[in-house]
Amino acid sequence: MIKVTAVEPDSIAEELGLRPGTELVSVNGRDLEDFLDWEFLTAEEEILLHVRQPDGEEIEFEIERPLGEPMGLALEPPRIRRCANRCDFCFVDGLPEGLRDVLYIRDDDYRLSFRYGNFATLTNLKPRDIERIIEYRLSPLYVSVHATDPVVRRYLLRNPAAPDIIPQLRGFAEHGIQFHTQVVMSPGVNDGAVLRQTLDDLWAFGPAILSCSVVPVGLTEFSKHHLCREPTPEECRAAAREAESRWPAALAERSVHWVCGADELYLRAGLELPDPEVYDGFEQVENGVGSVRWLQQRIAAEAASLGGWQERRIGIVTGAAMAPLMPLVLEPLTRATRARFELVPVENTLFGPSVTTAGLLPGAAIRDALIARPELELVLLPGECVNDDGLFIDNLSVGGLTDRLPFEIRLSKDFADALQAPLAA
Ligand code: SF4
Repeated sequence: MIKVTAVEPDSIAEELGLRPGTELVSVNGRDLEDFLDWEFLTAEEEILLHVRQPDGEEIEFEIERPLGEPMGLALEPPRIRRCANRCDFCFVDGLPEGLRDVLYIRDDDYRLSFRYGNFATLTNLKPRDIERIIEYRLSPLYVSVHATDPVVRRYLLRNPAAPDIIPQLRGFAEHGIQFHTQVVMSPGVNDGAVLRQTLDDLWAFGPAILSCSVVPVGLTEFSKHHLCREPTPEECRAAAREAESRWPAALAERSVHWVCGADELYLRAGLELPDPEVYDGFEQVENGVGSVRWLQQRIAAEAASLGGWQERRIGIVTGAAMAPLMPLVLEPLTRATRARFELVPVENTLFGPSVTTAGLLPGAAIRDALIARPELELVLLPGECVNDDGLFIDNLSVGGLTDRLPFEIRLSKDFADALQAPLAA
């Protein structure tokens, strides 16, 4: 059963009399568990829908509608599947106390992997989940492999019951499921020979493994530092070179580069970022793989529409991780807009200075950094700093921030999106 949370005006759902609180019980006699069942089972032109209204009345509707016409309702979010692992580098373990409850949930959910590209380990799949992935052809899935050696993987995940990933992936691949994969590189555990073996094993799958990324492990002040550590520049260089060594064969055999290090791996290694074409269409840009090259391409594509900013002073808030790479982005942005961009690197006061990603910046740290910059006319914040409700990780809202500052603030994904409209008069 799934609950309806909203109904669009003039939609099929409204015409049927569905309303917030209506329970969707089954479609064509099959019980509904979550949004996946709903989407896949209602993909037919004709369906038999069984609902329970908020007053307890049970109704069956025979619905006929043109293929693709939405029903016009929103569903309650699915109950998140909890993670079965205890990785040393777990982000959740690294959170300080006192944040929103939802941030402490360790989710490891194949449904969100399919829908949003969240990485999942597939260690908590039940037989029913495996059936659904195959029946609904949930592809591609984003999978944290880390190591194909089962002993190393179980050690990294701190889960002695983690299934062997190779047969697991093969079982899905035989049914046409494809994967984007990642290796979070923990030095001394899954780099060196283990990384080499992991890439060999994944490549041997053939086209079922669409891509692979190598991401350096990130720790906070609160992580289990006695169990894992950050990689050295030399270790990052070795991992990046290991990935790069695969490119000639991958290009020759499949016309893709297939594996690449995250931007942060290159930054920590002190290596120049690869050319844009290495990222094969930026399939893992949300994972920090190719973000800088992607931004450069977005700016180049939008350059003609970025006029009217000449000599304006625009602050760019960023985490310390991206700050050294930002000139690569701001230089073409300055050429396109002729504005004066000023970088505002913000140190993470909540997680400690070792946490440098923009998405984890607390609103209070941003506010404190910006209070000292009254001369700015506009400030762009990374869009990933806030959740869907406009809240930073420390619960400060964007509104709470703007109230305290004398300039306009805009959230931005690629800079070009936030520079289309002129400043408010
Ligand atoms: S898979 Fe590991 S890192 Fe991810 S939530 Fe579970 S314990 Fe944390």
